[in-house]
Amino acid sequence: MQITKASYLISSPSVDKCPKPDRPEYAFIGRSNVGKSSLINMLCNNSKLAKISNTPGKTQLINHYTIESTSTKSNKKINWYLVDLPGYGYAKRSQQQRKQWSKMIEDYLHKRKTLINIFVLIDARHEPQQIDFDFINDLGEWQLPFTIVFTKADKEKPGALERNIKLFFDKMRESWQFLPQYFITSAIKKQGKEEVLDFIDDCNKAFVQQ
Ligand code: GDP
Repeated sequence: MQITKASYLISSPSVDKCPKPDRPEYAFIGRSNVGKSSLINMLCNNSKLAKISNTPGKTQLINHYTIESTSTKSNKKINWYLVDLPGYGYAKRSQQQRKQWSKMIEDYLHKRKTLINIFVLIDARHEPQQIDFDFINDLGEWQLPFTIVFTKADKEKPGALERNIKLFFDKMRESWQFLPQYFITSAIKKQGKEEVLDFIDDCNKAFVQQ
């Protein structure tokens, strides 16, 4: 799939304020500083689309981007939404802000009928973090479809990268019968872009055929 145009649309404080659910939608979420903005910019060929911020956790809004794309397989044009969700694990968030975040995210994930897939971003440099599993286990409990995107793959030597990924899935196996699909990405090396976009393309096809 090729993205022909990507533009910021709106930031919403709740699912009820989100744009009309008239097209497939894909959400991106992860821990603060995981590389979400960089990944979104890489996917959309636009280095300024999502803000690469050094002051994480300031905004707690659901951010919609309008994406126009052409399938490289069928040549069909399709519009979809990319959604940048505020992440979890910001140390500086107050108890009140954490509650607000949980409510907004849970509402959005449960109620957004056109949400096709949640991309959960995991920093490939780190060993498995409990906070990521807590979020993934919630998704499992709510039976929501998700895939894992390992980020910053360029920062690790191949051996260390493989080890972290293996540790991650070993830990997942403790409570999961089936493991999710995953992608290995680097915004610096533009790694994993085709794979993520092709996955979205395949999901879009299924959506259109419904
Ligand atoms: P966000 O807070 O999750 O949106 O993360 P950002 O995209 O703002 O990235 C956080 C930091 O990680 C920034 O300093 C980025 O330059 C860096 N970063 C993001 N992606 C990559 C990557 O693929 N490789 C490397 N080496 N650094 C990255």
